Amino acid sequence: MDREAVFFCDERGPVSGSLLLRGGTIIDPGSGLEGRADVRVRGGIVAEIGRLSPEPGERAVDVDGLIVTPGLIDVHVHLREPGQEWKETLATGTAAAAAGGFTTVFCMPNTDPPLDSVMMLEELQRRIDRDAVVRVRPIATISEGRRGERSADYAALAAAGAVGFSDDGESTRSSAVMREALTATRELGIPVMVHCEDPALTGGAMHEGDISRQLGIRGIPPQAEEIIIDRDLALAELTGGWLHVCHVSTGRGAEAIAAARRRGARVTAEVMPHHLVMDDSWVAGRRTPVNAAPIPAVDAECGDPDTKVNPPLRPASDVRALARIFARGDVFDIISTDHAPHGRPEKQGRPFSAAAFGFTASEVALPVLLSLVRAEHFTLSAAIAAMTSVPARLWGLSGGQLRPGSPADIVVFDPDERWTPRDDTLLSRGTNTPLLNRELRGRVKLTLVDGDERYRDC
Ligand SMILES: [Zn+2]
Repeated sequence: MDREAVFFCDERGPVSGSLLLRGGTIIDPGSGLEGRADVRVRGGIVAEIGRLSPEPGERAVDVDGLIVTPGLIDVHVHLREPGQEWKETLATGTAAAAAGGFTTVFCMPNTDPPLDSVMMLEELQRRIDRDAVVRVRPIATISEGRRGERSADYAALAAAGAVGFSDDGESTRSSAVMREALTATRELGIPVMVHCEDPALTGGAMHEGDISRQLGIRGIPPQAEEIIIDRDLALAELTGGWLHVCHVSTGRGAEAIAAARRRGARVTAEVMPHHLVMDDSWVAGRRTPVNAAPIPAVDAECGDPDTKVNPPLRPASDVRALARIFARGDVFDIISTDHAPHGRPEKQGRPFSAAAFGFTASEVALPVLLSLVRAEHFTLSAAIAAMTSVPARLWGLSGGQLRPGSPADIVVFDPDERWTPRDDTLLSRGTNTPLLNRELRGRVKLTLVDGDERYRDC
């Protein structure tokens, strides 16, 4: 099946006039609304919320039994354009985002060439305007060419629309460049978003521990991440700048962030759904979630490259610690996906050590989080807040809540529907997830951006 052909399964296309979502359960942490209510959308905005009757000529959609939340915001995705369109494009990556319930995504700048200049941001914006089906906001690089040596022009990049600076995929080698970038954030109001990994300790392919030794795969010690978290926290405290720590994967790293926040550092952090359920035994072929009920599945091949991600899947003790720390609420403001699609040749048919890092994640993030909610590690409201009201507040975005007058960026999902992500049904070009062909629970039914239907499961 041609996956690009199913962006819109509704022949009617964008909704015109007014739309009434009837009978759903609203969860909107931004306004504190939690309970059954109807939502009227008109002219691209949320017009009314309450017990509402259809008006003449209005299209009513029965969402009884479904959950209605603000459209999700993902501050960390890789859309691969320009330069790696065989992995993903703005069209396919944003279609996947819409299918996952996301209405705004921030795209990382490790494209080819990287997003390190105003010219690159302008070119990307032209492509976004043409191809994207959800809102896309670009993150620019910290350093020229992502080489970690010379600062990018932060003020110019922010003026051209950048929502952050990141050399994601690498840690910025020069501490002086990091200092300059963090200093710039004080004026610009957007963060430096850091991938923490000491280049002197990398070269491995999975977490360094008992399992990497059993498998004979070179490991990446947790200290590679924690050393750079410590450096960047120190520079955030030195400068007073806004540091956003991406994809924290170790309990110790998270506790270092908690301590810096207690000292008053301006630090935010994100955790990924996969780091909350998958441990390093998944690399050895197991498929038992750490913090959630087992998924019906047979174990997989040992050394499956689809379990290779950076930061790597850590031991169960870290996976448990991250869920506990997220629930505590003093480290992880944000849940984002690190959606990192790859083509099959970069993943399969080569040794684990030579495969690319990363998971395709936009379409499976919500079911993973719902499995943690069912296991009572945290509430659905806390998870939704970390993908709606909190990123909207931190970045000053107009969406993230369902008040009358706010943009009608809305997702409707069934928290219990069972479905199986498959090669021919995922909208992302990348199918590189260890959840491929595993039954999941929780499915997006409808995604609206500015009141327009951008995804519908029919
Ligand atoms: Zn990333």
